[in-house]
Amino acid sequence: MSASFDFDLFVIGGGSGGVRAARIAAQRGARVALAEVLGNDGLGGTCVNVGCIPKKLYSFAAHYGEAFGESHGFGWEGDRPTFNWATLKANRAREITRLNGIYGNLLRGSGVTVFEAFARVTGAHGIALSTLNADGSPGHQEFTAKHILIATGGTPHVPHFVGREHVITSNEIFDLEPFPQRLVVVGGGYIASEFASIFNGLGSKVTQLYRGDQILRGFDDEIRHFVAAEMVKAGVDLHLNAGVVDIRQTDQGLRVECEGGARVMADAVLYATGRVPNVADLGLDAVGVALGAKGEVIVNEHYQTNVPSIFALGDVTNRLQLTPVALGEAMVVVDQLFGPAAGKAPRSMAYEFVPTAVFTHPSIGTVGYSEEKAREKFGEVTIFRSEFKALKHTLSGSTERTLMKLVVDTKSDRVVGLHMVGAEAGEIVQGFAVALKAGATKAVFDSTIGIHPTAAEEFVTMREPRAAPQ
Ligand code: FAD
Repeated sequence: MSASFDFDLFVIGGGSGGVRAARIAAQRGARVALAEVLGNDGLGGTCVNVGCIPKKLYSFAAHYGEAFGESHGFGWEGDRPTFNWATLKANRAREITRLNGIYGNLLRGSGVTVFEAFARVTGAHGIALSTLNADGSPGHQEFTAKHILIATGGTPHVPHFVGREHVITSNEIFDLEPFPQRLVVVGGGYIASEFASIFNGLGSKVTQLYRGDQILRGFDDEIRHFVAAEMVKAGVDLHLNAGVVDIRQTDQGLRVECEGGARVMADAVLYATGRVPNVADLGLDAVGVALGAKGEVIVNEHYQTNVPSIFALGDVTNRLQLTPVALGEAMVVVDQLFGPAAGKAPRSMAYEFVPTAVFTHPSIGTVGYSEEKAREKFGEVTIFRSEFKALKHTLSGSTERTLMKLVVDTKSDRVVGLHMVGAEAGEIVQGFAVALKAGATKAVFDSTIGIHPTAAEEFVTMREPRAAPQ
């Protein structure tokens, strides 16, 4: 490792990708520093603080609402318990603080020097930190590093319109006060749709406004329509082709005016219309690091920018914005810079067959190609689908339905897409993702024995293809 620099690696950002890269690089013997602007409270980044983890905890909370109602069919009696928003917020905050502490311990325990500071790149090997001195006055520190890793993530983007100051983003929703009896969610992506489901489940009257034809663009079309219909059945008031004109504060609450003249009253308006890379004031322009149209840091297949000593990964590169992707990219960067783990081959990262879940109610699990994308890539495809009422709902009284779908490349018989809407879809699809990565054919699915009685067994018992569209 080079002694002519203060550090071998300087990581900017203590989120999913940054923490992983810093920790593993230090374990491989590199001298590593990491700067996180939010200090210890920010360690873990978006996922831990205002993303995956608190969202999933709130999704669990929302499921209890329906579970109490459904339990009557199974013989449970008594009044439905009431929901205490303050308790959920406090318990979530305690758990997140615990996770922040674990991340801090992991970093420091691996020998990473952690700075609670905003970091800026000052040259191909230079980093400047804006810190606070012990007396609270602004401080400044400068360091050099052989390699710099930008892992600053992304941030919610709210467009300009009249009333923009009245809206909140996913950063604020977790601590919203008071609980919104009426919530408007603007957006049609997975974050908007998840929060619409979650607050609907917690008891808000939720209106979701989306300017496009259907929510969840990019997912399999049939899955999008199916989950939207299930969300509406569950109580979300979904308005499609409904852009927002303005938002005004009135005596009765926030008045959201939509294109076409419709008006919705709300206690809170959540804007989840997209995220932008966190590059503001990072100094990248001055150093000559190339950025894309949305401000994303442009990297090659080695996560290297056009300045060879500067690397970037995770959401700031605006590719697949998922925590496991940022973690995978971090492992690849560390293997490249400091060598793989003893006895192991260097890691690589593939963006095909990345499984993902959407924690709407019901949830989506998906891996591989949508039917539409598979037709573009493979030509002829065979579709297998199964739609049913889950066994649980034969007694629960719920009318929720489950959809499972396989997309098969007809020529090779390989299963190239697997999609599901239903309970625990993410848990189910994770296992099948291994099969798809391994190149499993439909014949392999057919020869696999199901686990009975489960919903997942449907994936290995679909025999008749859906009739080809006329
Ligand atoms: P981040 O985790 O965003 O970390 C970046 C860090 O850099 C932040 O802590 C920030 O404070 C810090 N920083 C920024 N600029 C500076 C600077 N100049 N100096 C010092 N520090 C700086 N992904 C999933 O896989 N599953 C999910 O269910 C899921 N749910 C999500 C729900 C929501 C509401 C959101 C918003 C995201 C969700 N994601 C989910 C996406 C996931 O959170 C991100 O893909 C992941 O956190 C990206 O990691 P990262 O390391 O690139 O950036």
